[in-house]
Amino acid sequence: WAKAEGRGRWAVYDPERSAADIARSALAAGLPAALDRGEFVVHYQPIVSLLDGSMLAVEALVRWSHPELGLVGPDRFIGLAEETGLIVRLGEWVLRQACRDARAWHREFPEAKLVVSVNLAARQADDPAIVDTVASALSRSGLPAELLQLELTESAVMGTAGEPLRSLYRLADLGVRLAIDDFGTGYSNLAYLRRLPIHCLKLAGPFVEGIRGDGGDSSPDHRDERIVDALVRLAHALELSVTAEAVETGEQAERLRALRCDTGQGRWFGPPAPADRITARLRGETTE
Ligand code: C2E
Ligand code: MG
Ligand code: MG
Ligand code: MG
Repeated sequence: WAKAEGRGRWAVYDPERSAADIARSALAAGLPAALDRGEFVVHYQPIVSLLDGSMLAVEALVRWSHPELGLVGPDRFIGLAEETGLIVRLGEWVLRQACRDARAWHREFPEAKLVVSVNLAARQADDPAIVDTVASALSRSGLPAELLQLELTESAVMGTAGEPLRSLYRLADLGVRLAIDDFGTGYSNLAYLRRLPIHCLKLAGPFVEGIRGDGGDSSPDHRDERIVDALVRLAHALELSVTAEAVETGEQAERLRALRCDTGQGRWFGPPAPADRITARLRGETTE
């Protein structure tokens, strides 16, 4: 009895835990209405050629423009949206918005061939309806399929059945590009790399973080640099392109270029920003 009571009191009186839980469930409870009220916005971050500095793509990153909390980052609500299933509706909204924006850029700057890269949560990728959702986003917006890239993590690629998702083949048949996000941080099942219609690997931030740029890196025996070197070679052997995430310094960018990495993304090349910042950059009004 005493034990059960003690446990109950613990749950009720731990002030920090309950405050965090309340904040979390309040945020979760607000998500559906926020979507209906149009409180989400999509920001875009440049993905830049390490060879010539040109902007080849942008990644769509959702934010919640919360009436009281201000701009809330996806790390605070994407997980909640996945748990509640709202991610399917939210993700579809992001996809449509990104396709519309990319279509507008393509209309004004056709020679830029700017690709828009959209994150797909495991739960979205796992839903067979995703193929129709993507096809309809493309046809409604008029965006050519080859200007859309979908980013999936390693675990999303493998699905819940431990087999790569069948929908990936059907998505690739639509003509969209597929990228593995945060590559190197999930289950490194290399078998799927040669079997699946993937176009790009995005090297996870932590590997890039370890590269300093003086030919060494912050680990005692240059391990991060050696891992990046090996992953770039692996990707190129499979005819995949490689994007380095979280590039924060010019030295990192230079070093990644020397390692033959194709493109870079990160604060060094420009932070995630509203669509009009990308438009200004395409017009040549700004380089960030
Ligand atoms: P991600 O797909 O790996 O996106 C890259 C993250 O790195 C973004 O965080 C970006 O703002 C951040 N970043 C940009 N530059 C730098 C840098 O120089 N250094 C470092 N360390 N990080 C940098 P963000 O915007 O907070 O998004 C976090 C994650 O939320 C994303 O990680 C993605 O997994 C998820 N996410 C964002 N938007 C969506 C969406 O529309 N749908 C889904 N399913 N997930 C999304
Ligand atoms: Mg991503
Ligand atoms: Mg990533
Ligand atoms: Mg991520």
